[in-house]
Amino acid sequence: MSARILVVDDLEANRRLLQAKLSAEYYEVLTAQRGEEGVQVAKRERPDLVLMDVMMPGGIDGFEACRRIKAMPETRHIPVVMVTTLDDRESRVRGLKAGAEEFLTKPIDDVQLMARVKSLLSLKVVIDELRAREANGRRLGVIDEALAPDPLDQHRLVSGNVIIVDDNQHQINRIKAALGVEHRVHGLGEGDDAGPPDLAVVSVAAKSFDGFRVIARMRSVGPTRHLPILAIVEAEDRARAVRALELGAHDIITRPIDEEELVTRARTLMRRKRYMDALRTRLDQSLELAITDQLTGLYNRRFLFTQLTPLVQRAQCGGDVVSVMTLDIDHFKRCNDTYGHDVGDAVLQEFAARIATNVRPMDFACRMGGEEFVVILPRTSGDIACLAAERLRRCICASPFRAPGLAMPLDVTVSIGVASTESGEDTPESLLKRADEALYEAKRQGRNRVIGRAASQAA
Ligand SMILES: [Mg+2]
Repeated sequence: MSARILVVDDLEANRRLLQAKLSAEYYEVLTAQRGEEGVQVAKRERPDLVLMDVMMPGGIDGFEACRRIKAMPETRHIPVVMVTTLDDRESRVRGLKAGAEEFLTKPIDDVQLMARVKSLLSLKVVIDELRAREANGRRLGVIDEALAPDPLDQHRLVSGNVIIVDDNQHQINRIKAALGVEHRVHGLGEGDDAGPPDLAVVSVAAKSFDGFRVIARMRSVGPTRHLPILAIVEAEDRARAVRALELGAHDIITRPIDEEELVTRARTLMRRKRYMDALRTRLDQSLELAITDQLTGLYNRRFLFTQLTPLVQRAQCGGDVVSVMTLDIDHFKRCNDTYGHDVGDAVLQEFAARIATNVRPMDFACRMGGEEFVVILPRTSGDIACLAAERLRRCICASPFRAPGLAMPLDVTVSIGVASTESGEDTPESLLKRADEALYEAKRQGRNRVIGRAASQAA
């Protein structure tokens, strides 16, 4: 997996060393020599990972640079690894609290560095994919700008279900005490009614079971595939730490467990999970719901405008002509009043199904509301659109509609107005308005007919 990694360090020798190591693994390396510069490069270049030196004289240090990267919405999803000669508990916790994902001490162990980099990058690939899809959704106008607060925000508290997989009762009690302040914590087999877990703490130092197997299993089965895993490893047992990361653990903590470090790592992991969950949910809901009319499954009014606007704009600049037809079911109110809304809904559904199966794949069939529908026909002249409308009209009246609870099938007809951008200035609104005028004319002339109205010429 290729990726871009930003190395921030005040010493050229350190930058060169890391650059050589990372380039050898085919990563693209960017460098910065001061904290402020690192923040700027991160913002401008959006690297996939940042390796951040802690001690940088003259200006902000690595903690502050990390904190700034994690404070900007456009960069806070980029993982940051603090690199330092300080191997004390206080700086480790300080780095994690600044939002860093990991803390490596110099001289850097190559195997551990690469395992960490790979693990953080593979997670970022997933996040990037979700973010890209969300950006598309926003561009299409189907994802609301009024978003829920960003779960990656360091100031937001997260709370969730934590499951501990360990055989050391003393250690389990300490983990429960530390994490129990913010989360619901339970051992394996307890808390079955607690709901799905948000974090698993798995000991790979356990004697009575194989922690690696637990991690591998969690990563491979559906319900726990996205579950963050924090592996407990003996201090100095680098081989097992690397193995745990390779198998899919998201983070490592060494024994004896430091409570504050545990709490901070758990927070970071859970924030990230919430963030990914939120992105997934938002996408699923918004993409499915926001563009679709719930009753008929056709596109909705909002989606209509996101499609029609650029098509009309292009037509105005000499691009392909676009036509629209507006459709209105004749005497629909009478049908609703006589047979009730359930029958009315069934008629709308059948009507929509007949439209959907009779337009071309490039056309957009939308329900505007009530019994009004619009079909957008890209790259289609008014004449051709009128022929298509006539075909639709015949398809509606050709056979009666059946609905549950209806003794006799119902004869349904439709009036259709057509307009196109062939000549004259148009906006999506003016185009739809002309089609509506044509539709009104069709109603006035006795319904069950098509009236076309190009720009300047009368129909
Ligand atoms: Mg330094």
